[in-house]
Amino acid sequence: MALTQVRCPDCNGLNVVKYGKQPNGEQRYSCQDPRCSRTIFLLNYRSQPVLQSSRTRIIELALDGYDPQAISESLGLPEEEVTRVFQQLSRLTAPPVGVRSRPDKRTKVAAS
Ligand SMILES: [Zn+2]
Repeated sequence: MALTQVRCPDCNGLNVVKYGKQPNGEQRYSCQDPRCSRTIFLLNYRSQPVLQSSRTRIIELALDGYDPQAISESLGLPEEEVTRVFQQLSRLTAPPVGVRSRPDKRTKVAAS
């Protein structure tokens, strides 16, 4: 039974075990396939949270009016991560920044 559904980047095998951690806490894996030359590798999880420094940049750009696509291109981050930060941001701020399109209908406000 495999501990994780991690695949070896070299042989694409599932015969992979956890193999300690990097000094920065990143999980290391070891391929157990005897035919594979790769022994230890790291995974870059797509689901890894955005670094705080990147997060700050995303928020800065969002406040400048950039949309998630422009920010993801500018910072070289996956757009889904940028969107996630936007979504978190929109819960904290009002009105939400950039996530919703501008209302195309003018709402008449009764002045008197
Ligand atoms: Zn392998």
